[in-house]
Amino acid sequence: MNPKNVVITGAGGVLCSCFAKALAGEGCKVALLDRNLAAAQQVADAIAEMGGNACAVEADVLDKESLREAAEAVHRAIGPCEILINGAGGNHPKGTTSGEFFDPDDLSNPQRVSFFDLEPEGAQFVFDLNFMGTFLVTQVFAKDMVETGGVILNVSSMNAFRPLTKIPAYSAAKAAVQNFTQWLAVHFAPANIRVNAIAPGFFVTNQNKGMLFEADGTPTPRTEKILSQTPMGRFGEPEELLGTVKYLLDDEMSGFVTGVVVPVDGGFSAYSGV
Ligand code: NAD
Repeated sequence: MNPKNVVITGAGGVLCSCFAKALAGEGCKVALLDRNLAAAQQVADAIAEMGGNACAVEADVLDKESLREAAEAVHRAIGPCEILINGAGGNHPKGTTSGEFFDPDDLSNPQRVSFFDLEPEGAQFVFDLNFMGTFLVTQVFAKDMVETGGVILNVSSMNAFRPLTKIPAYSAAKAAVQNFTQWLAVHFAPANIRVNAIAPGFFVTNQNKGMLFEADGTPTPRTEKILSQTPMGRFGEPEELLGTVKYLLDDEMSGFVTGVVVPVDGGFSAYSGV
């Protein structure tokens, strides 16, 4: 692909650091935005070691002022944003029920979190991180693209097609990200800004490993269920997202593609379970 200036949020994390390294390898200048500056800096150092051009910038995707400051730092370091990847996101235990299905016994068991026990702050945190964290970042960085055109890639999830049990706010937020992807694609079409999303299946990363593995490393029952519903019978590797990411970002390959959400999921979304 033609080298571009790329802004990636959540770039200190597992999936987006992989995207960042691959795009730097294509000659792109990459701004790595993360709330966790140390994590972003580690990725920037790794990219510098391989001869690439990257800068780490501290930013909170829920704080517009922090994003405006980050945009100034990005402009100074690499210039205007030409490609935006909205990668920051994830679930949190505060937005998670103990059981998959309603169980009246949970209501009187203080060890269990029923739907009724979920605090508004927990649900709001998860919803905001995934949806508002895409909305606000797009408001700040798409401004760079309105005269030149550009590409935006959002990160959806299997949740967006059908909600996963236990994580109602994360599911609703990713459904919103998917809907917003289509809305933005329509809205920005006259400005030649393409907007698409990738919907990863299941990949082991920082934000979900507590749900997938016990402290001693043995798989949780949820992992067994996920793998039994994934026809390819395994978790994905971050590198297996790269072909789709590059395709959706490259105007030569996908110049007429906007408003789509591409699953990369080992067959999870195609499988009825029977
Ligand atoms: P991760 O936990 O490894 O990375 C997430 C990164 O986002 C972290 O570096 C974290 O510091 C950063 N972040 C969190 N809150 C932030 C904030 N307010 N401002 C700025 N940065 C913030 O997780 P990951 O799985 O690599 O997640 C990347 C994206 O992929 C997320 O949007 C996630 O929802 C999505 N996703 C992941 C999977 C999976 O199976 N891992 C599946 C579908 C979608």
